[in-house]
Amino acid sequence: MVDAKKVKDMVAKKSSQFIGNMQGGGKVPPHKHCRICQEPIPVKADPRVCKQQECIEKNEKDEKNQKTVRIMMFIFFGIFAVPYLLVLVTGLF
Ligand SMILES: [Zn+2]
Repeated sequence: MVDAKKVKDMVAKKSSQFIGNMQGGGKVPPHKHCRICQEPIPVKADPRVCKQQECIEKNEKDEKNQKTVRIMMFIFFGIFAVPYLLVLVTGLF
């Protein structure tokens, strides 16, 4: 399900940013966007989030989730790869 209100808010935020850039002489200083709330943040910001505690925490959680997913993928790959390799080896000899 797509949250229509959320999308609308995001579009409004994006367009207001665009207008803001236009008023600023069309030149956009190099910047990044918070990966959680899409607020403009300095290029050197690391991790790529704004200073809001909520975003920092969410980002940390996401990174932990990504790590878990990666580990799970390795485990699953191992589970499937080992029998396959065994078949391959026993088939060859
Ligand atoms: Zn943020």
